[in-house]
Amino acid sequence: MNAQAPHIMTDRQPIRQLDEAAANRIAAGEVVERPASAIKELVENALDAGANRIEISYSDGGKTLIKVVDDGGGIPADELPLALSRHATSKIDGSDLLNIHSFGFRGEALPSLGAVGRLTITSRFMGAESAAKISVNGGEISPVQPAALARGTVVELRDLFHATPARLKFLRTDRAEASAINDGVKRLAMAAPDVGFVLRDLTKGGAGRVVFRADPESGDFPTSLRARLRGILGADFVENAIEINAERGGILLSGFAALPTYSRGAAVSQFFFVNGRPVRDKQFYGALRAAYSDLLVRGRHPAAALFLSCDPEQVDVNVHPTKAEVRFRDPALARGLIVSGLRHALSEAGHRASGTVGQETLNAMRPETTGRQYQSFGQNRQYVPPPVNSGGFAEASDWQSGRVEPLSEPNQNDLTGLPLGAARAQLHENYIVAQTRSGMIIVDQHAAHERLVYERLKNQMRNKTVASQVLLIPEIVELAGDDHSRLMEFADDLASLGLVIDSFGEQAVCVRETPAILGEISGKNLIADICDQLSEAGSSALVKEKIDAILSRMACHGSIRSGRRMSAPEMNALLREMEATPHSGQCNHGRPTYVELALSDIERLFGRS
Ligand code: ADP
Ligand code: MG
Repeated sequence: MNAQAPHIMTDRQPIRQLDEAAANRIAAGEVVERPASAIKELVENALDAGANRIEISYSDGGKTLIKVVDDGGGIPADELPLALSRHATSKIDGSDLLNIHSFGFRGEALPSLGAVGRLTITSRFMGAESAAKISVNGGEISPVQPAALARGTVVELRDLFHATPARLKFLRTDRAEASAINDGVKRLAMAAPDVGFVLRDLTKGGAGRVVFRADPESGDFPTSLRARLRGILGADFVENAIEINAERGGILLSGFAALPTYSRGAAVSQFFFVNGRPVRDKQFYGALRAAYSDLLVRGRHPAAALFLSCDPEQVDVNVHPTKAEVRFRDPALARGLIVSGLRHALSEAGHRASGTVGQETLNAMRPETTGRQYQSFGQNRQYVPPPVNSGGFAEASDWQSGRVEPLSEPNQNDLTGLPLGAARAQLHENYIVAQTRSGMIIVDQHAAHERLVYERLKNQMRNKTVASQVLLIPEIVELAGDDHSRLMEFADDLASLGLVIDSFGEQAVCVRETPAILGEISGKNLIADICDQLSEAGSSALVKEKIDAILSRMACHGSIRSGRRMSAPEMNALLREMEATPHSGQCNHGRPTYVELALSDIERLFGRS
């Protein structure tokens, strides 16, 4: 061992019991990391006390003052000293740590806060004649004194970490601490939509600025949650989100998840709750990513607020000091529920994309603001010009080859009642304009086709019915670097996708069969793309993710490029297939495949309403 190890004791002292103040400071080290964690504990206590309204204030990022006021049930005067003593709680009796229905249960928060700051609790127990208060300063507890308070509890914490300067040094700027507070309060506000929240910055000179406010929402859970999410994540999120409801093995999954076309540039809008408790658990973020894996392009992140609820016995919440992580008895069950629940809901949403044209787009369409169209899907969503496709045309489906019988006129009119309406025109050889009862639809035919081919490929693979076509003359494709081994590792999987390759020496493969659905394609381009995909995915990606990525690449090769003129029956066949195909509202890169312009929007554009 090295000589600097701090634990080598030359003058060992006898083992002794630390006093309560020291024990509290040690506990505080885990529970109270920063002002935001103190506020989290206090707000959780208020929620446990059945508060309907909670007001939180702070000064200087919470470093000098934190104050939480609630209208909950309060603490009886004679129990105030106990509230400050360690492992004292009214929430469990200690006999069953697996049956927890409250936020708190360890009885550690208040004593910990009292050990690292100047803490005063004023409270009036429900039905009591008067209020009382108690203070603790550097571990010294004052006697209980009478106080004035109409109801509920007020907890004031001044000069956090004044007694532990080392901790103080680790705090970030006031602004960063304030932002962590804001984030934590919003998470709790999502967890309790029926409770009102006000967050104020009392920093001198700030004049008590309200940083965040959420009034109590009424209605059943999805209704109140939706209203709360509108306030916190924005109207855009709510309008582009679908309600989730799934169940597996006694775990319920509910909440809202945004359509893939409403994606974010970072994983900032992902919120998980387990039995009402906000958690930040890697396993859930991973599951969310997996659920959207083939719906979003690399670098885009899904947005969702998801609630898992189950019998408390199925999940251990006592595995993390601030309870930010939990452990399910069956972690695979929870993960599987998230992945399948989301995927199911996203395909139920069918062809719907977040393609309803918003105000910003309408503005962009007005003559005085032309040139802004590319930003027109809102700053949260991406819109990238269609990619240039190197693959050839496919001729494998009805609507591509024009084999569909032309529809008679009356029938044509009926099509307007369908979700994607009746095709009326094709513009710039890529955009299909269709008429619906309530407006119009513009389809990006390249993006749509790519998605349809992809979904068909997946379907065929699932049913093990991928048809391949044998090349008359096998194509030899030269490879560079590690591509050969990486590719051959996947040879069996590729064969099940209809792409049959053999090793051809050390640095080449021989392409013998290609997926029939892709039509005539260049084996060389397809192999090159698959190699890129495999190396980009890295060795850690799951096989399923790699296969999805490969399928998505394949689909690009089989897609009709923009630039192909289509007949009316072909266009209508495409629209009908989109309606029948899950996930067809966005292409493999997460862009919308179509947008919708309501008649009322068109009227607005022309100043008619
Ligand atoms: P825990 O929440 O784990 O029980 P705390 O140290 O946070 O531990 O709180 C100790 C006890 O003080 C709680 O069990 C509860 O009875 C009481 N208490 C704390 N805050 C409040 C509050 N805002 N309203 C009513 N009672 C409270
Ligand atoms: Mg608590």
